[in-house]
Amino acid sequence: MSEHNGPTGSAPGPFTCTFWGVRGSIASPGPETIRYGGNTPCLEVICGAHRLILDAGSGIRALGYSLEKETGPLEFDIFLTHTHLDHIVGIPFFAPAFSPANKLRFFAGHLAPERNVEEVVNTMMTDPLFPIPVKSLGSDKTFTDFFAGETLHPHPEITVRTTPLNHPNNATGYRIEFGGRTLCYITDTEHFPDRLDEKIVALIEGADYVIYDAMFTDEEYASKVGWGHSTWQEGIKLVEAAGAKTLILFHHAPRRSDDEMDVIARAADARRPGTLAAREGMVLTL
Ligand SMILES: [Zn+2]
Ligand SMILES: [Zn+2]
Repeated sequence: MSEHNGPTGSAPGPFTCTFWGVRGSIASPGPETIRYGGNTPCLEVICGAHRLILDAGSGIRALGYSLEKETGPLEFDIFLTHTHLDHIVGIPFFAPAFSPANKLRFFAGHLAPERNVEEVVNTMMTDPLFPIPVKSLGSDKTFTDFFAGETLHPHPEITVRTTPLNHPNNATGYRIEFGGRTLCYITDTEHFPDRLDEKIVALIEGADYVIYDAMFTDEEYASKVGWGHSTWQEGIKLVEAAGAKTLILFHHAPRRSDDEMDVIARAADARRPGTLAAREGMVLTL
């Protein structure tokens, strides 16, 4: 059961974020990526008694295994930035989805009103693309489409603010507020050449952590215009404009080796001390 931070001053409980997948576009395992990790996006966010999942890329498979020893039914609120394959490909391999005792609630903000997230997940898990249809996964599943820009309350003590991002086929940025702390997840977005994305600046204002699409460097971006991704340099501009605290570089390019990641992480930390590059297994405590 959850508790409100009521007049007795009861603590809101833990607020943590564990990175299960940090890589963009396609899983990229191998000796070159072993330190930062090769799985595609998946974050596990604990807010008191509740477990939120941000994106269901290949990293969600190991998250599922990590819960095997949990007793009792599990409930998940799964917020998808969008439904490009790298962000949903792990759904059929998420072991808790097979248990009738468990509840999975999916949310997406990039499809309404013409499309819906249930249809998209169904399509991915359809003959001849995949042998098991989503309805055959035993868990209780719900699919909710909202309009990016809406504010959601998956539980009374958790506020999830959203904004549309600049990405082919659309994507949604998230701001999770719990117990007076704030975590933002802004991935799969392309910046503008001549101005900051004011919607993102507004969403991340004063946040404790901002996880940001840093797939490219500024130098690489010149030949990647229109791909729908951003740079670590742009991430620094955004957090500085928004008065946010710690920037976390995310959605690493699949070809980026660990040694190349180290160079970027050092350069970003030199430009803005405290900036981190996300790695699989990293845990943020808010
Ligand atoms: Zn992606
Ligand atoms: Zn995408």
